[in-house]
Amino acid sequence: MEVATEMHELNNLTVIHSIQELQARLDRNERQGRTVGFVPTMGFLHEGHLSLVEQARKHNDVVVMSIFVNPAQFGPGEDYDAYPRDTERDTQLAAEAGVDILFMPTPEEMYPQEGGIHILPGTQASMLCGASRPGHFDGVLKVVLKLFNIVDPDRSYFGMKDAQQLAIIETFVRDFNLRTDIVRVPTVREQDGLAKSSRNVHLTAMERKEAPIIQQALQQGALLFAEGHAVAEIEKQVAEHIVANSSGCIDYVSLLSYPALTALDEPKGEAIIACAVKFERTRLIDNIIITKKDGSYVQNDDEQ
Ligand code: AMP
Repeated sequence: MEVATEMHELNNLTVIHSIQELQARLDRNERQGRTVGFVPTMGFLHEGHLSLVEQARKHNDVVVMSIFVNPAQFGPGEDYDAYPRDTERDTQLAAEAGVDILFMPTPEEMYPQEGGIHILPGTQASMLCGASRPGHFDGVLKVVLKLFNIVDPDRSYFGMKDAQQLAIIETFVRDFNLRTDIVRVPTVREQDGLAKSSRNVHLTAMERKEAPIIQQALQQGALLFAEGHAVAEIEKQVAEHIVANSSGCIDYVSLLSYPALTALDEPKGEAIIACAVKFERTRLIDNIIITKKDGSYVQNDDEQ
């Protein structure tokens, strides 16, 4: 596809739409030892995305961000068409945050023909969002593998907001010896605790007021877990707390080991309480990670 490279006036951001052009620019032989940090996103940028950039900026010579609303990870009836997009604002924010190269391919550029090969994630993808969104993580891994092959990053930055996605990608990198280090970045939240998300824009004013209950309920669940309550009881209480205080419907509330995402028969290592809540126009996810320390569980700090 022939699309000219654009230089953005701010901070010398280069916008690239073509895979070939990006690959040529990031060729290992041309890098002269400079390290590349990669931040894949679906755009409609907020401070969560920008904290990934901040980390990437600290550790690497060159920061590449991709913005691509990946059709392969949306199921029929999901919000692919309605997913918020604002390329102009995103370009400005990326430039201000110090992104060097912004890669914005079209779906035709990424998927010129129907793929004959599918990537099937393992059991981690059968839980949580994988159970409610069949094929979602197949599509995530497909785009992630393509992007890793295109960018060839030294380090790639992913948010704990999407903890299941992060865990599956870590397994993918380990199992297939992909040559990038995965860096976990804590969840960035609004002042009232709601996890920042591009989809928050689709909440009604009332739903926006209710939505912080999700994180509050998860925190309460973490306390119950630290006190030694049973897993099923905790999941029930978290779900009830959300339903009683909001108009949201529970898709799932689940307490599992992290990052293996297996049932927690015998609590050890890290645990996650993850949930998905459906509002009228949008579905929100959030989670809390709890770590065993000195024999008891403590909540991990995230960027509150
Ligand atoms: P998305 O554009 O929603 O696909 O997200 C792109 C990347 O940003 C993923 O690695 C997300 O986990 C991460 N991300 C999204 N929201 C947040 C947040 N509130 N805090 C930290 N990272 C986030």
